[in-house]
Amino acid sequence: MILTGTGVCGGTAVGTLVLLSGLLDLDRTTKTSSSSSEESLILLRSAVEASRVEIEELTETARARLGSEHAAIIHAQVLVLDDPEWLDPIVEAIGRGASPEAAVGLVSEEVAGLLAALADEYLKERASDVLDVAQRVVGHLTGRSRSQELSDLRGDVIIGAHELTPTDTINLDLSVVRGIVTEVGARTSHAAIIARQLGIPAVVGATGLLAAATSGQLVIVNGDDGTCVINPDAASVKAASVSAAARSHRPVITERVVTRDGIGVTVMANASSPEDVERAVRFGADGIGLFRTEFLYMQSDGLPDEMQQFTYYDAVATAAEGRPVTFRTLDVGGDKPVPGLPMPAEENPFLGVRGIRLALQHRAVLEDQFRALARTAARHPGISVMVPMVSGLEELDDVREVMAAAIPEAVFSFGTMVEVPSIVMLVREIVDEVDFLSVGTNDLTAYLLAADRGNRDLEYLYTEFHPAVLRVLHRIRVHADETPVSVCGEFAGDPRSLALLLGMGYRSLSVSAPLVPEIKARVRAMNVSAISPVVERLLKARRHADVDRCLVELSEAEA
Ligand code: PEP
Ligand code: MG
Repeated sequence: MILTGTGVCGGTAVGTLVLLSGLLDLDRTTKTSSSSSEESLILLRSAVEASRVEIEELTETARARLGSEHAAIIHAQVLVLDDPEWLDPIVEAIGRGASPEAAVGLVSEEVAGLLAALADEYLKERASDVLDVAQRVVGHLTGRSRSQELSDLRGDVIIGAHELTPTDTINLDLSVVRGIVTEVGARTSHAAIIARQLGIPAVVGATGLLAAATSGQLVIVNGDDGTCVINPDAASVKAASVSAAARSHRPVITERVVTRDGIGVTVMANASSPEDVERAVRFGADGIGLFRTEFLYMQSDGLPDEMQQFTYYDAVATAAEGRPVTFRTLDVGGDKPVPGLPMPAEENPFLGVRGIRLALQHRAVLEDQFRALARTAARHPGISVMVPMVSGLEELDDVREVMAAAIPEAVFSFGTMVEVPSIVMLVREIVDEVDFLSVGTNDLTAYLLAADRGNRDLEYLYTEFHPAVLRVLHRIRVHADETPVSVCGEFAGDPRSLALLLGMGYRSLSVSAPLVPEIKARVRAMNVSAISPVVERLLKARRHADVDRCLVELSEAEA
């Protein structure tokens, strides 16, 4: 039987299915407590405190394993433990005689349901934080938890669940877990992002999994085409095992790679912390094509001053061991708050004061950042700086004014992200004013298609393989002419994008670190002159079906 969902981390995995129980599958017979409310409240408090300690520990594991961005996601769960809108109704339910585990479960399901129904994607994601925290607290109360289910696994395991929380994903034992399949989730849900960082083939949105499969069955997960095969035939298992083995043994390639027809391609990694940069170097990245500086700001208590920033950027550049690093200036907005920067609530934060718009409202903050980056560039060659969310030349003029006020002369090369559609129409003009461009396909796709990248109901619409998005990507490359352009959105790491990006003329990509060995190996096997005619046809595609046909041809031409 084949279930189809969305592949969120490429690769094939074969293994025995281990189905996890529901997040809050509580024994509802314990709805009423046998203990007094006072005793129940003591149990609740100690479970909450034990959970707090666990979250702090897990934050450190996430920082070491995945970097600061993910550590911040986990740490945000402490906010739930302290939130009176979550805690007070639980205490009230216990006061009415509910057992502590039933009170936590029922209140959390209710709060998560309310959050999930909101239009704001940021708040929607908080629903999974609430369930993650609830699961942890209930685990302490009942002595049963998913961490137990996830420990002591043996053999080659495929984890199946209705939903995986970020905690579950971070806790996966990578020596046995080969793949992930879930019934819900989106490309941009935290568990999916973490799966990609860890390089575990994963499929989300495989509706009907729990009804169709049972633990112990053999399963193939194909994160490239988004399928999950339950009880596959012997030939499929053999083919999938060969493909899985080939991928897991990809050697790290430290040098810059060249295609079969002699075209050099730079494969860099995206990063958000010095630890991320160390990982990228271990995976053989040629540099850091996008360093997101916002996580430094999000973690700090107030705004980091010039010296704190310099210390951090210097650690980043040192970790890169001489490889180039492109720092992106602060890219936050109403959806990603930062302590110390006032951001009034907006009706529509994704069309609001975010990225460079916000930075230009706080020029002193941007000046500090430029000064810290200039100091870093004075110590490390190969530092570049780019600005996010630019929509017109005037913003670049303003940025230059701020830069001139902050530093006497530019000591780094300077570029801009291309992620707002208006700038695509000005690429010919903008390349006269910058040293390089970097295409942010995540936002560019969302704004071109007017589809929120995190909205699960619009997943069918949000795709970089839309014929219009592909034409836009080609146009950017052609209009940039001699100016270097790299692609740093998630699309750069999509297994189907490599041939078409090279065919369009892109020579620089920045991807999630674990993907670097795979992409470098595929570049080496590629013959760009053979795929160019298919890419030309692809750029004339009218409908998704035309694109799909060309993608099949491209994968055949690549093989
Ligand atoms: C993008 O928009 O593609 C991008 C790389 O920026 P971010 O994902 O940080 O918004
Ligand atoms: Mg962006």
